[in-house]
Amino acid sequence: MLARKTALVTGSTSGIGLGIAKALARQGANIVLNGFGEIEAAKAEVKALGVEVEYHGADMSKPAEIEAMMAFAAQRFGQVDILVNNAGIQHVSRVENFPVERWDAIMAINLTSAFHTTRLALPAMQKANWGRIINVASVHGLVASAEKSAYVAAKHGIVGLTKVTALENATTGITCNAICPGWVLTPLVQKQVDAKAAALGISNDEATRLLLGEKEPSMQFTTPEELGELAVFFCSPAANNVRGVAWNMDGGWAAQ
Ligand code: NAD
Repeated sequence: MLARKTALVTGSTSGIGLGIAKALARQGANIVLNGFGEIEAAKAEVKALGVEVEYHGADMSKPAEIEAMMAFAAQRFGQVDILVNNAGIQHVSRVENFPVERWDAIMAINLTSAFHTTRLALPAMQKANWGRIINVASVHGLVASAEKSAYVAAKHGIVGLTKVTALENATTGITCNAICPGWVLTPLVQKQVDAKAAALGISNDEATRLLLGEKEPSMQFTTPEELGELAVFFCSPAANNVRGVAWNMDGGWAAQ
């Protein structure tokens, strides 16, 4: 379905980003990966699906590096047809204790980077009259949790950016939508499980059950594979008129 299309997924060396990159690759899209850590392993996993893969190591907190990444993708593949803004970090602390530099980093990586990639990707999408922008927000783009002020503010912000981008392109073949996962067992969440286990002196399994029990009625993690299939749907012709939604896949979290 996505042969000859190019998808750029930020923060795609692990977790949800890698899951979405692989789902789009299974549909035939060439992929530009981004992020830190296990770069070669991520490239190999995507390449094994039979598409072309490139990697750019831009730091999403640095606008000049984001510009270089977008120019690199356009030069290598012609243009970015599918943009997935996924890179994100977390920090947990009450507002009065929240480290200022963590607030700034979360805003830059979880929100402002999507403004930069989007503004740089749109002109070529508008010329082609086709494009898909998918913002990986969170259930925290819809509801709040204590001690996550920067994350919740950034995720509500990216849901707002999603709606404006969708509206400004509503008469074109470009759509913009957000995905709002509940708990997904990635390195980002494993750190929160480990912190809970250490703080309460309980096992990893007990901490996992507590974490799910606090928020997620299904008592199940959503998987990167399931989120990847939602991204594939947003890229399909059936979703041509799905514009500006914030679609939660959260085991019932936001329904409570
Ligand atoms: P993860 O830690 O597995 O992956 C994050 C990715 O972002 C990695 O590839 C990492 O290298 C990259 N990254 C981090 N800082 C970066 C930077 N400065 N520049 C470029 N890349 C950077 O986390 P994840 O859970 O897969 O999170 C992916 C997205 O999903 C995030 O936006 C997160 O907020 C969102 N999300 C996660 C969950 C969850 O439960 N895991 C729930 C809702 C939303």
